Amino acid sequence: MACERNIDRPFGISDKDIEVVTSKAKDYALAKGIAMRVKDLSPDARVPLPFCLVPSQFSKEWFLYVKSIQEDMNYLIHQVANNPEFLKKCLLNTAEFDEFTRNLLDIYDTVQKEGISQPLSLGILRTDYMLDLNNEEVTGIKLIENNTFASSLCGIAPQLRDLHSYVLNISGVSDFQSKLPHNSSLVDIARGMVCAWEAYGKKDSVILFVVEDHSFNICDQRALEFAIYDLRNDIRVLRCAFGCLRKCVSSKQERLFVGSKEVGLVYYRYGFAPDHYTKDKEDWEVRLLIERSHAIKCPSVAYHLAGTKKVQLSLSLPGTLEKFFDDQQTVERLRQVFAAHYALDMNEEGDRAVSMALENPHRFVMKPEREGGGNNLFDDDMKQCLKSIGSTDGRQAYILMDRINPPAVPNYIIQRDTIPSVTNVMSELGIFGVILGSKDHIQLNYGAGHLLRSKRVGLNEGGIAAGFGAVDSPYLI
Ligand code: ADP
Ligand code: MG
Repeated sequence: MACERNIDRPFGISDKDIEVVTSKAKDYALAKGIAMRVKDLSPDARVPLPFCLVPSQFSKEWFLYVKSIQEDMNYLIHQVANNPEFLKKCLLNTAEFDEFTRNLLDIYDTVQKEGISQPLSLGILRTDYMLDLNNEEVTGIKLIENNTFASSLCGIAPQLRDLHSYVLNISGVSDFQSKLPHNSSLVDIARGMVCAWEAYGKKDSVILFVVEDHSFNICDQRALEFAIYDLRNDIRVLRCAFGCLRKCVSSKQERLFVGSKEVGLVYYRYGFAPDHYTKDKEDWEVRLLIERSHAIKCPSVAYHLAGTKKVQLSLSLPGTLEKFFDDQQTVERLRQVFAAHYALDMNEEGDRAVSMALENPHRFVMKPEREGGGNNLFDDDMKQCLKSIGSTDGRQAYILMDRINPPAVPNYIIQRDTIPSVTNVMSELGIFGVILGSKDHIQLNYGAGHLLRSKRVGLNEGGIAAGFGAVDSPYLI
């Protein structure tokens, strides 16, 4: 077994026991749906998702802190989504250089001009954070990004707590239960979707999941579908890809239909990247048809835009949070989690940001307006990119952000067909949130459980879908 030297074995599990524990943990993962489809096996096959064998230590203080601000975070995003001037101001520059953002803004403008058919929207958010380590001390927690589109893994996150409880138990660890926080992300989010469907108010309407042709993260998506069914077995979920929707979606007097079924709620798990849409624009026409309809959208195009990196940059600037909250205490509590962001506009400030990043690339992350992981630029890649576009207006399609350095803790990342080895990992904590409402009337607003993902120290990105990270759960200290 290949283990890195000088790393403490977490929870004292000996090298002798690790293979047996890992084998049982993999079976537990498969039995409980901590699993995915993979490209090289038949669509019927499932393998365990990459997962951490034991829970990773995480600061209890900051865990509770970010949980306590999630309702305000939900409300902030809701307000941004309902503020056309703010959204447009944030995104006009990006739209000029980024076709994907422009396409979204075009849909947004069209429905704004025509008048919004459905005032309610459902937000299922996941606000991602990293602990901020300075001089070997955790000094705070910083927001990495707010996801408003296809916030994934709520269906699997609760199972990680149970998996870790099982692993610690069979490894002879005691007194750990109170350190593993309860996690109700699945049922909380399913409840939000059921409430949105009920708010639509038609018993025969369905919930439409817009999905990819072949869903690799199928267990997570199905878990949510089945949790909806557990809450109300009279709701039907339809899963359709854009290719299928092109043929069977229609609207009659703003009511949305798939075949003969009226749709009450549209839940997008796909459509957050340019290559999710065909070049001929037909998929964009489907997106517009849905957006124009009376169905409740999760997310609406406004919520989609509210989750962009440019919006996050604007929210981090002094004076912006005050526009959305009268209460100074709330502003202060939220402000604490925003790291410094820098616009790369064509002005002196933008020039200064470029020079700063070229001088100290390891202190920053450069982000294009993309989702789904694997798109950000770090270190030499960032330097190369800035050298080539840093003085051109193309730089405006990116933002710059302070790089956060979370603490490293020992764990074992369990992956298919590999031998487990102890390694140092860094974690990213996501807090889920649900918000349902119109511009002036909020019907639901609550925090909805959490997700921990961890990656090997030294890796820049940590997305599971993009193949960089592992699902995990926090051990609060
Ligand atoms: P995406 O929308 O593609 O998921 P994110 O902004 O969430 O983009 O970044 C992807 C990953 O890059 C994060 O999960 C994290 O591992 C890393 N990352 C992003 N921003 C920072 C940052 N400021 N400091 C350190 N790592 C970061
Ligand atoms: Mg994202």
